[in-house]
Amino acid sequence: MKTSTRLRIAIQKNGRLNSDSMDLLFHCGLKIRATQKALYCHAENLPIDILFVRDDDIPTLVMDGVCDLGIVGENVLLEQALEHKENGSKKEFDTIKKLGFSRCRLSIAMPNDKTFTDANTLQNCRIATSYPNLLRDYLKRHHVKAEVMTIAGSVEVAPRLDMADAICDLVSTGATLEENNLKEVDTVIHSQAVLIKTKNTLTPEKTETLELLIRRIEGVLKAQESKYIMFHAPKSSLASIKSILPGCETPTIMFLEGVDDKVAVHVVSSEGVFWSTLEKLKQAGASSILVLPIEKMLS
Ligand code: ATP
Ligand code: ZN
Repeated sequence: MKTSTRLRIAIQKNGRLNSDSMDLLFHCGLKIRATQKALYCHAENLPIDILFVRDDDIPTLVMDGVCDLGIVGENVLLEQALEHKENGSKKEFDTIKKLGFSRCRLSIAMPNDKTFTDANTLQNCRIATSYPNLLRDYLKRHHVKAEVMTIAGSVEVAPRLDMADAICDLVSTGATLEENNLKEVDTVIHSQAVLIKTKNTLTPEKTETLELLIRRIEGVLKAQESKYIMFHAPKSSLASIKSILPGCETPTIMFLEGVDDKVAVHVVSSEGVFWSTLEKLKQAGASSILVLPIEKMLS
């Protein structure tokens, strides 16, 4: 098959985005041979190729049309978009879908013993970051003049070495900040992994594969959020039970052999099902409550 008929996706080779990006593609049905750690690999069952690269290279590969699609963090995308804007270069891509994984935030952090009231606290401070454009944008929005110190990695050690008064770095659990006696004081942006697409026109074959892939991704994301709930309930409390269940389609009601006043209820919930919901169901008379994960969904 000619290369131009195969959809090319860039994903991170190693790091925090890699396994969730691969999992998503596996759940979409892509079969990839075990020599997966090659730089480039072909799906065996779909006209899709995967290019494994550093996450920072993904936006450019997609904007230049070398790859048709890419999976990358919004933090990297927004930082590079601001950089291109600054340079006056017109580089563009389409954001197709937020993927819900690799959630983190770009935050301002300061040593625990310093007081932060608002962004003004940062006036004339030295702030270390690997995201100079997003930080400058934050400072500009808050009318703060501060020195932006760009460093490639280990930003969190800068205050301890007295290289900086504050940092602007990615945070997910906050454990790294804590280990370095730093506290998170403000959020610059929230981020998660997104699927991006080139602005170039795709061939009809690629468009068809893209549409199939997007449908499957939507199915995977929907299935991840949804749960299949089964329980027994008194017929008399069905109305109150329906009002307890969040985001549920019409329940399926089945009769129970030899029992007149109770029915079995099966329902798909498109929202997370919490213990509190199950407790409310029980209070309303439900019993034998089971909550099951859903593997695939297609509506
Ligand atoms: P590469 O070698 O590909 O350049 P990297 O070191 O830049 O890798 P990782 O640390 O693997 O990148 O992070 C990749 C992405 O994961 C980040 O850009 C961000 O979108 C996301 N992420 C989620 N949580 C965190 C976190 N706590 N710290 C850093 N990145 C995070
Ligand atoms: Zn990177």
